[in-house]
Amino acid sequence: MQGLMMQQPLVVASLLTHAERHHGEQLIVSRRVEGDVHRYTYRQLAKRARRMANALATLGVQPGERVGTLAWNGYRHMELYFAVSGSGSVLHTLNPRLHVDQLAYIIEHAQDRVVFFDMTFLPLIESVAPLVRSPKVYVAMTDRANMPQESSLADRLLCYEDLINLHDDAFDWPLVDENSACSLCYTSGTTGNPKGVLYSHRSTVLHTYAAALPDAMNCCASDAILPVVPMFHVNAWGLPYIACMVGAKLVFPGPALDGKSLYELIEEEQVTMSAGVPTVWQGLLAHVDALGATFSSMRRTVIGGAACSTAMTEAFQNCHRVDVLHAWGMTELSPIGTICSFKGFQRSLPMPQQLEIQAKQGRSLYGIDMKVVGPQGEELPWDGKSAGDLMVRGHWVAQQYFASDDASPLRDGWFPTGDIATIDGYGFMQITDRSKDVIKSGGEWISSSAIENVAYLHPGVSTAVCIAARHPKWDERPLLLVVKKPDSKLAGDELLAYFDGRVARWWKPDAVVFVDSVPIGATGKVLKNQLRERFGSYYLTV
Ligand code: AMP
Repeated sequence: MQGLMMQQPLVVASLLTHAERHHGEQLIVSRRVEGDVHRYTYRQLAKRARRMANALATLGVQPGERVGTLAWNGYRHMELYFAVSGSGSVLHTLNPRLHVDQLAYIIEHAQDRVVFFDMTFLPLIESVAPLVRSPKVYVAMTDRANMPQESSLADRLLCYEDLINLHDDAFDWPLVDENSACSLCYTSGTTGNPKGVLYSHRSTVLHTYAAALPDAMNCCASDAILPVVPMFHVNAWGLPYIACMVGAKLVFPGPALDGKSLYELIEEEQVTMSAGVPTVWQGLLAHVDALGATFSSMRRTVIGGAACSTAMTEAFQNCHRVDVLHAWGMTELSPIGTICSFKGFQRSLPMPQQLEIQAKQGRSLYGIDMKVVGPQGEELPWDGKSAGDLMVRGHWVAQQYFASDDASPLRDGWFPTGDIATIDGYGFMQITDRSKDVIKSGGEWISSSAIENVAYLHPGVSTAVCIAARHPKWDERPLLLVVKKPDSKLAGDELLAYFDGRVARWWKPDAVVFVDSVPIGATGKVLKNQLRERFGSYYLTV
């Protein structure tokens, strides 16, 4: 047929080849685990990614097979983003903050063939390795000089730079189907085991286009982008891909995410935009305020993963002239759904009104549709007042979890987010509550059911309910509410000590409150919303 346009698949490797050809000179700067700063260009990134793609082929990694990474934000991790996905395999980013048992579950469930790790995580991976069968080899993301003298991984341990040096950079990215998988990220389920979300090449490229737009993250070639949000947490919100698409300088922070380290990096590398969770920005603002300093180059920051308070928006905008872009997303959306940027007429509103708008999580990106529904599934009006279950659908919304026997989570083609929200007449969504029983502490999930399960192992516990309580530093922390067995003399400290070694250290509740009973609903479930109403401010008042 005449007049049809070319058919080119939307694949992840095309982002890298674009960056190499059109922005080859652009810089990528990384603070390394080794303690120094590494600098190179997109041209060098592309060459090394191709060498690594050849290395993966030598290791026998087949298209569609999963390759795990346990790593900070840095250039080697970036190389794997493209080497793995570009060659048709699936990049599986692992969250090092999880407990050993959970990591083992995830690696085994994903059947990772190889696991790459930063040296920081050698002890962690050595604890996980005896619990899993799937990885054939482990690769330390360092050079020969920094390889461990001894490791229980023995001859299954390889050196990243050896693999790079041993392989050629001649590699043609295969023409993979744009609907095939490129990466995998697990999210803590509200109940049961973590669930994997498998992203496709197509969904990733479409997300990249949309998230880079001016009313979204507003990224361009003259930007220097600092992704503080981890590359193991939903692809650093897509910034590694976006930077390639627009040709921006990339600045990777490595493991040091404290205020001082971030501020120095922002100033040294003249960062113009960044992205992260509120907890990290609190540390940065506290450091900058203590110094009496400000930002010389940073113009905007994307804040999401948890609600951004008006106080934080004011601090960035009024004291430092850094615009805040409040964003909402989730693992099942890879992750961005909405971003709060003004419509034209809102730009001239008085500041208090603007701050009110910015407390909202924002407008849908093109590619994502949303609605709020009431108890019978009926759509609620966009009046900024009617709160209901937030449902989404679109090009980058999961329709099923990876290798799961469960029914699709979709309801009439919409994904239920587990968030409660309102939408106003201009399309601005605001999260008002959460129906899922999870705790989000410093941007990372804690499973309330996992905490309750441990508590139930203690002989003195009759009923245990774990809820999210607001916290001044971590946004939320787990609070454990317990009904004791009739004759039990159980004390709070004793029960808290019981969690040591049974869950990741930061999952342990900060406090136990003993209660006489907990409210139970008609279907026999604990009414956690009532408990949240009663105890949700516990950590703000003690
Ligand atoms: P994750 O899958 O770990 O990215 O977490 C997604 C969840 O984090 C959402 O469903 C919300 O509950 C929460 N979340 C993300 N962004 C925000 C935000 N800006 N404000 C409030 N909650 C948020």
